[in-house]
Amino acid sequence: MRLTETVATVRLIGLPTDSHSSFLRGAAGAPPSIREALWSDHGNAATESGLELGKDIIVEDVGDLPLDETEADLGKIFTAAREATEAGVVPIFLGGDHMVTFPIVSGLAEAHGAVNILHFDAHPDLYEDFGGDPLSHASPFARILERGLASRLVQVGIRTLNVECRRQVETYGVDVIEMRDFAPDRVPIPDAPLYISIDLDGLDPAFAPGVSHHEPGGLSVRELISVLHRVQGPIVGADIVEYNPTRDLNGMTAVVAAKLVKELAALAGRT
Ligand code: MN
Ligand code: MN
Repeated sequence: MRLTETVATVRLIGLPTDSHSSFLRGAAGAPPSIREALWSDHGNAATESGLELGKDIIVEDVGDLPLDETEADLGKIFTAAREATEAGVVPIFLGGDHMVTFPIVSGLAEAHGAVNILHFDAHPDLYEDFGGDPLSHASPFARILERGLASRLVQVGIRTLNVECRRQVETYGVDVIEMRDFAPDRVPIPDAPLYISIDLDGLDPAFAPGVSHHEPGGLSVRELISVLHRVQGPIVGADIVEYNPTRDLNGMTAVVAAKLVKELAALAGRT
């Protein structure tokens, strides 16, 4: 174990929005549940690297953005991402549905130029639009790639590719590690500036039942963390999206999300 001497600051930003969900609402209620699990007395604040939240990594929780499910939300999310970068802190966003990744990456790209993205999900989220909604949670990576906001996109855990999505993968040159071919050391880790987006349905529903779209045959928590531990860091930001508390069992998915917040925060501090 090698501890870094750098103290990083991560900024937790809640994004209570779910109006671009294609199936079930509920993800807007996620941020407070994830925070509660993060600071619960059920465990300590140590990450697996040994760095501790609140000690080695400063956590600045700015609460939830005042979103109201209008177009104006995009600007608020964009600004929050840009301002965090300008302040020299690493933003970790708590969704919300996956729509949020588009305005987040737009804001980060203002500061960093095009970023590289490591994306965990059961779904590629590359639809041109879904149900007529170009901002659908099934489309954020189409919006990001068509604007050149990311130079490289690596997707992990994917197990729902249809013909349209395969065409989009080809069009945009996406690097997809399909679940059927998955092994933690097969995942190429993109270079800096690196952004990490975690849709919790990339995990198997056995580990994360509190999501709107159950897609069996997914990643274990351990497998996802094994990939994260291969990231050299520091990352420029991250999101954890699609937690739906109305579907959860005993808050177990909130604890998974909180665990992932810790491991992402450790990457913010790594040099
Ligand atoms: Mn998904
Ligand atoms: Mn997604």
